[in-house]
Amino acid sequence: MEEQEVVSRHFIEQIMDKDLQEGTYTKIVTRFPPEPNGYLHIGHAKSILLNYGLAQEYGGQFHLRFDDTNPTKEKTEFVDSITKDVQWLGADYGGTVYFASDYFEQMYEAAVRLIKKGKAYVCDLTADEIREYRGTLTEAGTNSPYRERSVEENLALFEAMKNGEFADGSKVLRAKIDMAAPNMNMRDPVLYRVAHMEHHNTGDTWCIYPMYDFAHPIEDAIEGVTHSICTLEFEDHRPLYDWVVRELEYPHPPKQIEFAKLYLKGVVTGKRYIKQLVEEGIVDGWDDPRLVSLSALRRRGFTPESIKMFMNLTGVSKAQSTCDYAMLEYCIREDLKMKANRMMAVLDPVKLIIDNYPEGQVEYMEVENNQENPELGTRMVPFSRELYIEREDFMEDPPKKYFRLYKGNEVRLKGAYFVTCVDYCKDADGRITEIHATYDPETKSGSGFEGRKVKGTIHWVDAGSSLDAEVRLYENIVKEDEPVRNEDGSWNLNPNSLTVLKNCKLERNFQNAKAGMAFQFMRHGYFCVDIKDTTEETLVFNRIVSLKSSYKPN
Ligand code: ATP
Ligand code: MG
Repeated sequence: MEEQEVVSRHFIEQIMDKDLQEGTYTKIVTRFPPEPNGYLHIGHAKSILLNYGLAQEYGGQFHLRFDDTNPTKEKTEFVDSITKDVQWLGADYGGTVYFASDYFEQMYEAAVRLIKKGKAYVCDLTADEIREYRGTLTEAGTNSPYRERSVEENLALFEAMKNGEFADGSKVLRAKIDMAAPNMNMRDPVLYRVAHMEHHNTGDTWCIYPMYDFAHPIEDAIEGVTHSICTLEFEDHRPLYDWVVRELEYPHPPKQIEFAKLYLKGVVTGKRYIKQLVEEGIVDGWDDPRLVSLSALRRRGFTPESIKMFMNLTGVSKAQSTCDYAMLEYCIREDLKMKANRMMAVLDPVKLIIDNYPEGQVEYMEVENNQENPELGTRMVPFSRELYIEREDFMEDPPKKYFRLYKGNEVRLKGAYFVTCVDYCKDADGRITEIHATYDPETKSGSGFEGRKVKGTIHWVDAGSSLDAEVRLYENIVKEDEPVRNEDGSWNLNPNSLTVLKNCKLERNFQNAKAGMAFQFMRHGYFCVDIKDTTEETLVFNRIVSLKSSYKPN
C-alpha cells in the first residue's frame, strides 16, 4: 500500500469536496445496498465502512437498504444476519432499515411517467429474441417491432402486466433509448418483467418486478442519496443510471461512483463460492471460522476495530488489486496486542514433575496479564509439583542452540522458578511420558534473584488445577496462489485447513473465559472462545492468528 493513499484524500472524497463546494448537494447521503441473498463477507465490509465512513466524515447520513427487488433468492434469514453484521461493524445507520421493495409503488409510477413521456414501451419479444435484436459490440441492434406502440397502448398493456393478465416472460417493459448505442446497456434495456412469484416482503401484491438498473437509481433518488457508491463492474451501467434519474427529472439526482472490489489472497470471497462451500457441506455453515463471511470472522475472533484498520490500510482505489491475508492478520494482532490478557495454555501436553518440590503444596505466582500494558494488572497462577509443558519444549537429543529442556539443562518456568531436567520416562513406543526436574527455591520470579542466567523460558500449567480445552487451528481453506476451483470443477482445498487439538491444558484462570473473549496463549498466538461450540463442560478455542508475522507495514 502506498502511504500516500492512506494520508491524502482519495478520489471519492475529492468528488464529494467538489460537490459540496459547488453546491450540487448540501449534505452527503450514502448507502449500503445489499441483496438479502447470502451472508456478508469481508468485501462487503469494505463497502459498508467506506459508505459509513464518508457519511460520518462529512456529517451526513448513512442508509442501510436492502436491495430486495428480486423475489427468487431472497430470504428473511439474510436480512437479519446482514443487519446484525452491519451493527457489529459499528456502522450506525440511524435505526431505520430501508427496503427497496417498499418503493415498488413509486417505481411503478416512475415507469408510467416514462411511458407517458414516450420513453418506455411494452415489448412482446421473448428473452432470446431480445438478445438477438440487441446486436453485438461491433454491430448495431435492430428496433423491436413493438417499439412504436402508442402511449395509450403502452399504458394499457403495462397496467395489464401489473394486473396479472400475462404469463411470465411473455411481455416486458423496455426503455426507449437507442438500439445503436455503443454501450450495449443503452440498447433499450428491460425495466420491468412479469414474474408470478411471492416476495419475502410484499407477498403476492406484485407480479411484475423492476430490473436492478431501473430500480437502483430510483431507490437512491427517493432516499436523497447523493453518492451511490458501487464496484467497478457497474461502470458500464452508469449511463443508464444517469438516464433514469434524468428522465424522471429528480431535482437533486444522485450520482454513481465506482471503486475497485477488495480481493484477498488464499481465501474464498464472493457470495456465490461461499454459498457453495456451505451447501456442499465442505464447511460447518456460514460462520465456519475458515470463511471470511463477517459472521465467520466474528466467530474466529476478529474485532470490528481490526477490520476497520485493515480497510484503512487497503485504501480506496479505481485499480483492481489483491491483498494478502497476512495484512488482515497484522491488523488483528495490532488490535489485540494491548487488549488481550496473555495466559498460559499447553496445546500438546507432557507431564513435568519437580522431584524436590513438596508434595501437596500449592503456591500462587503473581504474573502480569500483559507485559506491554501494565493497566491490565496481574493475576495469581497456581504452581505445584506436577505441571504440564509443551511436548516440543523437551528433547532427548537436542541439536545445538536448543535452549529448552533436555537432560542436565536448566530453563526458566515463566513467572515461577528455574528448573533443571534430571530424567525422563518413555513408553514402549518410545514416546516421552514424563519429564523429571528439580527446582531451585532461590530463583523464584520477582524475588530479585540474579545468581545466574538461563537462555530458555517456557510456559507451563499446573496439572492439578488445569482446565481441559479443545483448540482449533486454522489455515486457509483453499490453496494459496492456486485457483479456487480446478479445471475439472473440483475444489482446490487445503487438506490442513482445520486441525482439532482435543487434549489441551489451560491455567485455572481461564475458568472466567466467556464466549467470544480473546486471549493470547503465550508463545502460541491469539485465541478466542468459540461462541458456537463452547458449553458449560467444554471450552473450545479458535486460533485467530499465530504470533509470527509475514507482513510488515511500510
Ligand atoms: P458478491 O460479489 O460476493 O456476490 P454482491 O456484489 O453480489 O457480492 P451485493 O449484496 O449485491 O453483493 O453487494 C452489496 C454491496 O457490496 C454492493 O455495493 C457491492 O458492490 C459491494 N461489494 C460486494 N463485494 C465487494 C467487495 N469484494 N469489495 C467491495 N465491495 C463489495
Ligand atoms: Mg450482487
